[in-house]
Formats: sequence, C-alpha cells, structure tokens
Amino acid sequence: MKLDSKYFDKIRVKPVTAAKAKTEEVKLCEWPGCEKPGRHKAPKGRGAEGQYWLYCTEHVQAYNKTYNYFDGMKDDEVATYQKAAQTGHRPTWKLGENAFAKMEGARRAGRNAAKDHFDLFGEARKPRSAAAQKLGRNLRATEIKALNTLGLDENATPEDAKSKYKLLVKRLHPDANGGSRANEDTLKAVIHAYDTLRASGFC
Ligand SMILES: [Zn+2]
Repeated sequence: MKLDSKYFDKIRVKPVTAAKAKTEEVKLCEWPGCEKPGRHKAPKGRGAEGQYWLYCTEHVQAYNKTYNYFDGMKDDEVATYQKAAQTGHRPTWKLGENAFAKMEGARRAGRNAAKDHFDLFGEARKPRSAAAQKLGRNLRATEIKALNTLGLDENATPEDAKSKYKLLVKRLHPDANGGSRANEDTLKAVIHAYDTLRASGFC
C-alpha cells in the first residue's frame, strides 16, 4: 500500500488527532463516548457555581440547549426534579447517555447505524421548549423519565412521543418476533411510559 493512499489517510486520521490533543495538553470532551478535544467550558449550574464541564464544539451546543432547564420552573418543581436527580436522573447527562447507548446499540446490531445516528441528532436539534411551550409549563420529572423510556428526551414533541410509541410497540410485540415474549418487559415499560404521558396531558 502506498503511504499516500486514501486508505492510509483513513487509518491515520484518529491517531494524529489524539496525539495532537495530547501534545497541546487539551483535555478531551467530557461528553460520554466523545474523544474530541474539549475546548469549550460549560457551567455545571446550580449548586456547582464556578465549575465547568469541558466539551467539544458539538457537545457544548447540545449542552447549552438543555442548560436553562430550570428557567420558569416553580420551587417545588425544582425540588421534585432535584430529588429525582439524586436517584440518578440527570437530564444533561441523560441525553448523552441515551445518545451513547443508542449509538452503541446500533453499532452492535450492525445495521441502520447511520439512520439511528441521524434520527438522534434530529431530535437533539429541535427547539428545547417546543413541548413545554405547547403545554404552557415545564416538563415534570416523571414525563422526562417516560420520554427517556421511549428513547426520547425533553425536546420531544407529543407527535414524537406518539410515533415513537407506535414504532416501539410494533417492533417489540410478540407478533413481530415470531411469537417470542423476550421483549415483554420492555414492551410493558414502553406502554407504561406512554400511559404516563397521556395521563399527565403531555400527549
Ligand atoms: Zn464532544
């Protein structure tokens, strides 16, 4: 293989980037699974004043979309939210974890990886408060949890939730899996999540 072939360039891209980041002593982006240099500071927010995450350009933008999460939220709602946070519910990370898990899942499945990837970023780019504006209030922690169960985040619209629900039920149903009930628990969780969203008036 010639050293200047396109295949060599392809192989070389990542190591060079990593080495460059190292020599410049640039810390890596703290978004789960991201290995780009983290050149942008993002405030950790309430209770962590003066502390910052380091993100790459793409992820600082994603983070900034969710940063003003508490804007307009009443004190008791904030308290409810923070209580949920102590049991592991952290929306800014949630987005990243979901994104990472989704990509990992897609990679493992070895198909539709590109499709899932783009769907994911399509969701992330929607205006943050579309659903909140429609509802006239911020989302509740239970609603966000339900959206997460459907593989969505707080940027999802009621239409997103409906179509994702239909898709998941179709995909997880025993009829679609040769009668196998292997997905029964996941299917139950999806149905429960959608019920929660219906009951709360989200959709
Ligand atoms: Zn990043």
